[in-house]
Amino acid sequence: MDTDILVIGGGPAGMSAAQYALRAGYRTMLLEMMALGGQLLQIDEIENYPGIEKTSGFELTKKMETQTEEFGAEIVYGEATKIEKNGPFFSVETDQGNIEAKAVIVATGATHRHLGAPGEEEYIGKGVSYCATCDGPFFKGKDVIAVGGGDTALTEALYLSKIAKSVTLIHRRSEFRAQKALVDKINERENIALELSNGIKEVLGDGEKVTHVLLNDGKSLPVSGIFIFVGITPNSELVKNVADRDESGFIKVNDRKETSLKGLFAAGDVTDTHFRQVVTACSDGALSAHMADEYISSLSW
Ligand code: NAP
Repeated sequence: MDTDILVIGGGPAGMSAAQYALRAGYRTMLLEMMALGGQLLQIDEIENYPGIEKTSGFELTKKMETQTEEFGAEIVYGEATKIEKNGPFFSVETDQGNIEAKAVIVATGATHRHLGAPGEEEYIGKGVSYCATCDGPFFKGKDVIAVGGGDTALTEALYLSKIAKSVTLIHRRSEFRAQKALVDKINERENIALELSNGIKEVLGDGEKVTHVLLNDGKSLPVSGIFIFVGITPNSELVKNVADRDESGFIKVNDRKETSLKGLFAAGDVTDTHFRQVVTACSDGALSAHMADEYISSLSW
């Protein structure tokens, strides 16, 4: 298998990178481990993507996917396990075989961080969840908890409040870091209660399912579901031997989306960017493909 530009990761950053690479005339392969869309698939409602008034993450994913296919991307479903550079060529080891490419764009995104509270791991899938869109419908008419103070926690708490009887939003500080528009909506929603400057001490259950949560201030709340949205961890292991990462594991890129290895670019949530939105991921993807184009054009192959 070989291509001009290999994009690893099929979220918004990866799909945008593939589209720009294809429109610049390059053979482009998009390698995705699971389903195209990445974290976007888990966003219930998105209203701040320019030009699209209000839609679901699923709908927006489908539109991006169709566009990417129509531009002619070769989409391969598989996992990249190693990146090597031999002379000017990259060789990426995957479970579908090796892929040779002239430039590689890593857009592998990020995954949910866990709280580390006692009982959390034991009750994953038995009441503890990291995805409201996936698991929220199981908690129709029940009392649930959402944890976190960022955009994800507030967006998902709003979603859950439409399904559950009540949502208690727990945040460790007295102020949210989420966008003001979301904070205003949370304050207006009647079945959302706030527990600020508080946290989960322990997740309790009967062995089969969650029954209670013990808070740091000693309160015990009877609940059926605990939804945890306390940030993300970058999926950057793949580059650990070839490119620099920051202390949290995000791939270091400059304003051209170049990593420390020539010809290797990175885009979206996996990078040490300052703002992680769907629109910035798409912008990163476009820029990385444009710079990959400049890089390939500057060499004689
Ligand atoms: P985030 O912005 O990093 O927020 C994580 C939240 O979890 C923070 O409030 C943090 O508290 C809290 N937290 C972290 N570790 C914790 C712990 N051990 N115990 C308790 N609380 C903890 O992460 P995110 O909300 O998942 O968002 C990730 C990125 O995606 C952000 O850049 C966000 O803007 C973006 N996003 C955008 C949208 C949108 O535009 N609609 C939707 C979703 C996500 P502190 O505040 O005290 O640090």
